[in-house]
Amino acid sequence: MVGFTSISGGIVTNKAAIYADTLELTRLGKKLEGSTPVKSFARLVQGLPEQPETNAKWMLQGFKDDLDQSFIDVSVNAAPVVVCQRCMGSFAFELNTSSRLKVVKSESDLNQPEYEDVSPEEWDEPLLATSRLDVLELIEDELILALPFAPKHESCSSEALDKAQSLNDGLTDLDKSPFSVLSQLRKK
Ligand SMILES: [Zn+2]
Repeated sequence: MVGFTSISGGIVTNKAAIYADTLELTRLGKKLEGSTPVKSFARLVQGLPEQPETNAKWMLQGFKDDLDQSFIDVSVNAAPVVVCQRCMGSFAFELNTSSRLKVVKSESDLNQPEYEDVSPEEWDEPLLATSRLDVLELIEDELILALPFAPKHESCSSEALDKAQSLNDGLTDLDKSPFSVLSQLRKK
């Protein structure tokens, strides 16, 4: 495993890359776990509000089944701050993901017909075997997939809703009355 501070696009992400050998993980039934600042996941936080100092906790567990097939279970727990699409207030959105990846040996295995014959519940996303699996890229992908497109509070606070409502009313008034705006302009 090699770690270094990655610099992309001139921005120091301060995220040390972590590489894992998928064969080693699955053959030895190895477990890898870590804690990484949410704000260091540049693709995840793009378009999100300023992130506080919270960490994403993640775990990879490799194993082989009775048929000698290789798998990696991935789980991530994080709470990135998002904007509620109902009241426009920002809040920490709790994400708990777990997926099972099936390690395959060749590119052609990624699209094998056998995957079409199984139900989505049984389907395990294929992952190409590599000695340099970028663990944090994988974790970031998991988080991005788990984050809803339009996150909302379970129930918005009435204060926040009122604020959003009044903003909304302001817009609607303008939309509804172009003539009153026009007449006001004419008076000048
Ligand atoms: Zn809300």
